[in-house]
Amino acid sequence: MEKYKTKLEEEKKLLEEELARIGKFDKETNDWEATPESEIKSQEVQDDGDMAERAEDYEERSSTLSALETRLNDIEDALARIEEGGYGLCEVCGNKIEEERLEVNPSSRTCVACMEKVI
Ligand SMILES: [Zn+2]
Repeated sequence: MEKYKTKLEEEKKLLEEELARIGKFDKETNDWEATPESEIKSQEVQDDGDMAERAEDYEERSSTLSALETRLNDIEDALARIEEGGYGLCEVCGNKIEEERLEVNPSSRTCVACMEKVI
């Protein structure tokens, strides 16, 4: 169990760094939000055609951010389950999640069989 905890904590740290790079944590909504371009840095050159690109960048950051946030939530859940018990058990059928699966993705919530059913 301890090795998964270490892995999860390392991954959590990386994710948080990544999130902090493209967004910020909003304490009011308890949510991560992509940083608007204006807040990133005003040192970037402003010229024609730049605005559209910027908007695109923001979209891209938003979707990257929500993907990262989902991963972060999974990891935090997994860490909580390590503390509270229930880690490594499938959320759907309650059976043990395969060791190999946890090895690849320590924040897995379901066993292989259930994952295949979901997809
Ligand atoms: Zn299952």
